Amino acid sequence: AKNAGKDQVTVFAPALRHAQLERTRLTAGLRQAVEGGELVLNYQPVVNLAGGEIRAVEALLRWSPPGSRPVPPDVFIPIAEETGLIVPIGRWVLEQACADAHRWHEQYGISVTVNISGRQLREEDFTEMVLGTLARYGLPEGALVLEITESMLLATTPAETQRLIAVLTALREHGVRIAMDDFGTGYSSLSYLRTLPVDILKIDRSFTTALTDDDQRTRAFTKAILELAASLRVDTVVEGVELHEQAVLLQRMGCPLAQGYLFSPPVSALQIDNLLSLNPWR
Ligand code: C2E
Ligand code: CA
Ligand code: CA
Ligand code: CA
Repeated sequence: AKNAGKDQVTVFAPALRHAQLERTRLTAGLRQAVEGGELVLNYQPVVNLAGGEIRAVEALLRWSPPGSRPVPPDVFIPIAEETGLIVPIGRWVLEQACADAHRWHEQYGISVTVNISGRQLREEDFTEMVLGTLARYGLPEGALVLEITESMLLATTPAETQRLIAVLTALREHGVRIAMDDFGTGYSSLSYLRTLPVDILKIDRSFTTALTDDDQRTRAFTKAILELAASLRVDTVVEGVELHEQAVLLQRMGCPLAQGYLFSPPVSALQIDNLLSLNPWR
């Protein structure tokens, strides 16, 4: 009876009802998306600030349901996570990223970065799945970076956290690198940096944006994160670099790598081929 009452509230609030219908529609659509070939990966270059060379590419998922406009990942990824559809979708993403990245790594030494949801990491066979996929595409284990966020560890028991750390550690023993995404946006960034096996920190775009607002606190913060990372021998990538001024500031602060519209938005695999062949730095 309690639940029925709750449902009625939903039914009579038009905005909520609309959102609910939209979710149901998107969930049904997402179930079709993998098999229907509606998913595409774009790739955004990660560049070396000192020389401008492409060092890695981040795979970013795009979904265009037939006959409608593309749905942004910020909308469909959370639904995929809640419904569990992120597991088959994430498997497809890794598969496609390894297939595309194989030639980029062979020719240019580029690594590929893939976003991983907590739900995927919790799958029993995650490590085997990752290593098996790498092997299938002949991609050396060192060419793959997995991006995790601290939010995936929220509401996790200490025992479960230990298990996830063991999974990440096993992957690292195979040369797969772990990047902490959106670093600095959560509540426990520093404590996770202390406990998680991490090779790369990706400093969130909000830091980059605030830098050019002449925000002294953000500058001090960014500088401290970069220094801490350097002393831990953790690599750093700054996200969301849109202005030349930001790139200059960050390089001066000691950040080696950057990503953002200043260099390139996420583009198709074909466009990455072109960018790499125009960039004769090897
Ligand atoms: P993210 O992993 O933090 O990815 C960076 C987002 O910032 C991307 O948005 C990218 O297009 C955008 N971006 C890059 N440079 C700039 C810039 O200079 N300025 C601004 N304003 N934005 C920039 P996108 O592609 O819409 O992806 C949104 C989020 O969706 C991602 O955030 C990630 O959390 C999630 N996502 C995307 N693909 C996947 C996937 O394959 N698996 C999972 N689990 N999550 C994914
Ligand atoms: Ca990411
Ligand atoms: Ca990010
Ligand atoms: Ca994000």
